[in-house]
Amino acid sequence: MSLEASRWDVLIVGGGPVGACAGALLQRAGGTARRPLRIALLEPVRAAPPAPHDALDVRVSAWSRASERILRAAGAWERIATQRIQPYERMCVWPAHLPARSPDALLFDAAHAGEPNLGTIAENRLVQCALLEAFVAAGGTVIPAQFSHLRIGEHDVQAQLGADVLHCSLLVGADGARSRVREAVGLAAQVESYGQSAIVANVATERPHERTAWQRFLGAGTLAFLPLADGASSIVWSVEEAQARERMALTPQQFEAALLEASDGVLGAVRLISERLALPLRSLRTERLAAARSALIGDAAHVVHPLAGQGVNLGLLDAAALAECVLDAQRRGEDPGAATVLRRYERWRKSELAPMTLAIDTFNRFLAHEGGPLAHLARHGLAWVNRSESLKRLFIAQALGLTGELPRAARGGEALS
Ligand SMILES: Cc1cc2nc3c(=O)[nH]c(=O)nc-3n(C[C@H](O)[C@H](O)[C@H](O)COP(=O)(O)OP(=O)(O)OC[C@H]3O[C@@H](n4cnc5c(N)ncnc54)[C@H](O)[C@@H]3O)c2cc1C
Repeated sequence: MSLEASRWDVLIVGGGPVGACAGALLQRAGGTARRPLRIALLEPVRAAPPAPHDALDVRVSAWSRASERILRAAGAWERIATQRIQPYERMCVWPAHLPARSPDALLFDAAHAGEPNLGTIAENRLVQCALLEAFVAAGGTVIPAQFSHLRIGEHDVQAQLGADVLHCSLLVGADGARSRVREAVGLAAQVESYGQSAIVANVATERPHERTAWQRFLGAGTLAFLPLADGASSIVWSVEEAQARERMALTPQQFEAALLEASDGVLGAVRLISERLALPLRSLRTERLAAARSALIGDAAHVVHPLAGQGVNLGLLDAAALAECVLDAQRRGEDPGAATVLRRYERWRKSELAPMTLAIDTFNRFLAHEGGPLAHLARHGLAWVNRSESLKRLFIAQALGLTGELPRAARGGEALS
């Protein structure tokens, strides 16, 4: 296909879960039968969906209820093989000074909030592929390439791809934490290391996971066991960088012994059933989410500590909010890249993201560190939350992603328009 001088309404850079979701939401609901929205998505790495008998990937996420609804509206949820996903019904959080399964551990139960579950554990690749399929099925175009140069004009954006130039009214940066779009449109980011890495792996456990997400706040770091569909668990073990290097160098047997000790045996003996990956953890913030004819969504705009399992969930809310702003503008006959459209998106998501990212960082500072008045306060804080049904319900609503100003797609009912 020659792309020379091709014109698009929206050009999305990055086909991770967040970019693919924005594409699918816009392509399914945008335009009219006579003039559908023309949307192109640049993604150089096209992963194949997992085959039914493949072992489960190591990179999984906890997808909230809000995300499940957005994925439905994007036409992806029904494409996700049910045998590879695991809804979880409870979340048990306990600090290092309490034994595992202590009656003082903090337990969130979906049943207390009248919900069938608190969310779903699913492989990132499974969801990403389902979203890209939904985008293409709705008429979207995936271009397996990167731009070499961007030029932002008054009336359009031009993206150079080799000898070809793509013109679009709106450019969306969904190209992850190292976003080139962010740099090219001149939006600054503050990046700070948490001084930790997350070790992720899949493990078989002696005891069943009981459809529960288990999370222990250690002296320095956190350890989570997320329940998987095949009965195994995905671990996310955040520790200081030097410790992460030491643990990655352990033999599988030594690693399993260290994991048993760190988990206080909550699921009994553990056996590694996958590779181990160590991912350095950084926070990333941007003052602005939009510039001339361009908007940032997902990790291109914000990266948070994985302890609260919120990163991709916040990204899908960005995608749904941006899609809603663009679709509303289109209905009024406005240009999707107009400054008024992008200002609405930016104001909306900035006001939702600021308190959430602050809460996650405060949580990390309070609960993941040994000793001192903060740790003391955190321990009492957990017991306090545990005794209050209304606080627990508030935490459950946060975990479900059903607080704040939600985009229509996250409110359910599937319809965006
Ligand atoms: C250990 C760990 C556990 C986590 N667990 C959870 C969890 O339980 N729940 C949760 O909500 N979040 C979780 N997260 C966060 C989550 O993984 C990220 O927020 C999410 O992957 C971000 O998605 P994205 O689409 O914005 O970016 P990415 O997934 O980074 O995708 C970016 C895409 O852009 C493409 N790209 C890059 N550069 C270019 C370019 N120049 N041109 C074109 N394409 C480009 C890449 O190939 C990629 O496909 C976790 C993170 C970590 C590290």
